[in-house]
Amino acid sequence: DFSLGNPDLQPPKEVTDAIAKHAAVPDTHKYMPNAGFMDVREKIAGRISAEAGMDVPASNIVMTVGAAGGLNTALKALLNPGDEVIVLAPYFVEYLFYIKNHGGVPVIVQTQPDSFHLDIDEIYEAITERTKAIIINSPNNPTGVVYTRNELEQLASILRDRRQALQTDICILSDEPYVQLTYGVDVPNLFTIYDDVMVINSYSKSLALPGGRIGYIAVSPQFTDLDEVMAALSFTLRTLGFVNAPAIYQKAIGEALNVSVDVNVYRERRDVLYDMLTSLGFECIKPEGAFYLFVKSPMEDDVAFAKIATKHNILLVPGSGFGCPGYFRMTYCVGMDTIKGSKDAFTELSKEVF
Ligand code: PLP
Repeated sequence: DFSLGNPDLQPPKEVTDAIAKHAAVPDTHKYMPNAGFMDVREKIAGRISAEAGMDVPASNIVMTVGAAGGLNTALKALLNPGDEVIVLAPYFVEYLFYIKNHGGVPVIVQTQPDSFHLDIDEIYEAITERTKAIIINSPNNPTGVVYTRNELEQLASILRDRRQALQTDICILSDEPYVQLTYGVDVPNLFTIYDDVMVINSYSKSLALPGGRIGYIAVSPQFTDLDEVMAALSFTLRTLGFVNAPAIYQKAIGEALNVSVDVNVYRERRDVLYDMLTSLGFECIKPEGAFYLFVKSPMEDDVAFAKIATKHNILLVPGSGFGCPGYFRMTYCVGMDTIKGSKDAFTELSKEVF
């Protein structure tokens, strides 16, 4: 089963120990400020300030119910009915639902064919006076691409250009649950590139805690109408029914900011899977981050191809599900035994379709 992005690794011991410790502290379980425990927000703000080389106060951090909760909180705070949000294909499909949840209109823009890097001209063309935000996701699900500083600077430049011309505000929502899962590349810090940035982060992947539902929104100190935006985020977090992010997990990740799952485990799996598929004739870029491969479907109809794969007991996700037909996605958050054990099945599959 290569279909799900559900980490098979266990959370680091520092995290499970901290969860047990804080579960035993009675005051942990009370209501708290909507935005979360101040001591945890201070630790996160300190780390972000050091990374960005600028002062990001704790008041700019809102603890959220994972990245999904963070995106919904941010979109609820930002959007008026009919506002447009640019989404880059291939995309994490839930973005479309999150935008529509809050009266927004998703505007889909393809990335560059095969490389999946930003198509700056296409993004430029898609911006209107209703554009409120663009969601970017780097390292990317499903492609594993990490955007370069250069292309992000080009993006920032056209956003500044268009908002000046249209007299609007356009922000970047940077969805970064995979930011700690990279293979020898740096993820550029967006706070140093553009002013109106919200980073949405989560520990679902970096600490293998998807069931814990814990993440945060970090808002740039240069964000337009910052005080109003922070007040809106705290309010929408509450009125969406989250109230606040899970208490014990806030405290636990506060003690584990320097910890992550062993990225080398994913790197080895990526290498073995990539070599296996390409040696059989499949084409894909080698991912620089996250734990997905986005592979060209040998048949034009990617849904039909995924159906044929099931005959060989292989589960894949068709690219159509990410707004990018003609490809399929595989995850490598499955054990090496599953990856190596699938070789015969992939060999048979390749004989059938090539
Ligand atoms: N964004 C992307 C790109 C994802 O791949 C996922 C989960 O797979 C999420 C957001 C949601 O993550 P979370 O579990 O933190 O809500």
